[in-house]
Amino acid sequence: MPEKEKYDFALVGAGIMSATLATLIKLAKPSAKIAIFERLPDVAMESSDAWNNAGTGHAALCELNYMPDSKDGSLPDPSKAIAINEQFQLSRAFWAFCVQQGILQNPQSFIRTVPHMSFVTNKKDIDYLKRRHQALSDQPLFAGMDFSTSKSKLTEWAPLIMEGRDGKEFAATWIEQGTDVDYGEMTRQLIKWLEAKKVVVETGVEIKKLYQYPSGSWQLFLGTSSDRLIVADKVFVGAGGWALKLLQSARIPEIRGYGTFPVSGHFLRTDNPEIVAKHQAKVYSQAAVGAPPMSVPHLDKRVVDGKESLLFGPFAGINPKFLKHGSLLDLPLSVRPHNLLPYLSVAVENFSLLRYLIREITKSRKQKIAQLREFVPTAEAKDWVYYEAGQRAQIIKPKGRKGSLQFGTEVISSSDGTISGLLGASPGASVSVAVMLEVMKKMFGQDSVAKIQQQVPGLDENLNQNPSEAKKHLSRTAQALRLKA
Ligand SMILES: Cc1cc2nc3c(=O)[nH]c(=O)nc-3n(C[C@H](O)[C@H](O)[C@H](O)COP(=O)(O)OP(=O)(O)OC[C@H]3O[C@@H](n4cnc5c(N)ncnc54)[C@H](O)[C@@H]3O)c2cc1C
Repeated sequence: MPEKEKYDFALVGAGIMSATLATLIKLAKPSAKIAIFERLPDVAMESSDAWNNAGTGHAALCELNYMPDSKDGSLPDPSKAIAINEQFQLSRAFWAFCVQQGILQNPQSFIRTVPHMSFVTNKKDIDYLKRRHQALSDQPLFAGMDFSTSKSKLTEWAPLIMEGRDGKEFAATWIEQGTDVDYGEMTRQLIKWLEAKKVVVETGVEIKKLYQYPSGSWQLFLGTSSDRLIVADKVFVGAGGWALKLLQSARIPEIRGYGTFPVSGHFLRTDNPEIVAKHQAKVYSQAAVGAPPMSVPHLDKRVVDGKESLLFGPFAGINPKFLKHGSLLDLPLSVRPHNLLPYLSVAVENFSLLRYLIREITKSRKQKIAQLREFVPTAEAKDWVYYEAGQRAQIIKPKGRKGSLQFGTEVISSSDGTISGLLGASPGASVSVAVMLEVMKKMFGQDSVAKIQQQVPGLDENLNQNPSEAKKHLSRTAQALRLKA
């Protein structure tokens, strides 16, 4: 009989979500015995890797899909945008705390000020953007957002977008406090700190199955001839797109009816210093008809390993893998009698999305460059490389006997609180702290969250309601993270 390896808490997957959760647990329960298992040769090689995502600190400063237009031409409702911004502020508060405690080093290595801009080019969108700006300009967390239709102002904000541009109809909003974040670097630094705190981090180890003993604790199966017996009282499945598969293997009733709809992401990238120097922002526009919300086109300044680049995209694609390093069998093998109808109904009811995805995968390079030129009129194909980023595993959520496609994230937890997993991919890593606090609450109760709130200043949820607190928080976290206030 192999010797039992027993942990209080095991995490499957070493991306930003597991790294954040393990850090929170270590702060709330310093003596907890924790292990993290990662199937790839290193941590943060899937969606959390800098080049597998767009690195936007999503705070709804520029993403128009977080604040859809009203139906009657009145001011659009800012509540969703405010909620996302407030969630992002929890991340800022936590990261600032981590820097002050030496958990994260050198903030410039993982977060930088990169202004966020929304840019539109037709009458209807200009009218909407103006009203959006009006609705947000008094909101404390959006303080300092500017609106302009002036060519010279827009050229000052984003010269690359305005250079060689025909036409007179354009408008933009601009806010200085936007960020570009390297979630891969952040994950690596958190994991390094965790290892120093005696958390076991094993790479190259794939958990194939989860089995619950009658006592409530879990066995983590490696599915090889290995004679290891790994047992944990509680498990977090931070396996990205593979969370569905592992939660299904755990046979918890809460996962019944759920499915995953994978959408792959590709970007055009340039490292040409002359072009890169002309663009200092993240610029988001309106999505094409039928496009899923996360396919909003954007042109981003990125800083990875101290080097500057520009990204344009994403171009979406259909691919049955749930992870970039996943298997073509991921989608077919996830179908069960309980989620067959949800899968089928989503396929039937999202015809415009399927049509959009088919159009995307059949686009030639020439068409992709033409799309880039709508943003960068002077773009030349030779300067831009097309590459594959990460997979976004969107949630198919049971709704009656059918399913509905969701573009957010959802924490699935067993009723006994011994296992939780995260499905979905948006707003993503930006709100990792808010989502992992939710996991903490479900698995360890409100007391453990309160313990963290006592240590970490600014983990308040309704910051936007309190203008003076919001101002103080933005300035304090900016100082700790070396961002522009
Ligand atoms: C194209 C694209 C653009 C994006 N842009 C942004 C953005 O601009 N801003 C933002 O905030 N978010 C963005 N996101 C979302 C963000 O990248 C993800 O939400 C985040 O990285 C998810 O982190 P994670 O830890 O859950 O998953 P991952 O980083 O994918 O980590 C999961 C880990 O689990 C491991 N694993 C899986 N199964 C097993 C197993 N059985 N055993 C052991 N290990 C396992 C995997 O190898 C992987 O390392 C984007 C995503 C994509 C794909």
